[in-house]
Amino acid sequence: MAHTIKAEIKCDKCTKWTDGNKMFCTHCGGILEEERVKQKEARENDKFTFILIQINPDDHLFVKMAKRVMQVVQIIYMTFLSFLLWLISAVAG
Ligand SMILES: [Zn+2]
Repeated sequence: MAHTIKAEIKCDKCTKWTDGNKMFCTHCGGILEEERVKQKEARENDKFTFILIQINPDDHLFVKMAKRVMQVVQIIYMTFLSFLLWLISAVAG
């Protein structure tokens, strides 16, 4: 069985739902790319910005080690959080 991602998007021009994998609306032939880009941007903006602690080369060895540990904690936390978000969207979707 082929595994295709079915993503329907609403056409701006005719307001009908159409195949989001296509460049043009299957109903009116309107360009969908514009709408898709907007939706993609909206999704990107939804993502919380993740700033990893920066390790300064001038930092004391202890500070470097502490920051390294905090980075690992951050990464684990973010991985867990993104898994949780994926789970929520998977359940809701
Ligand atoms: Zn259309």
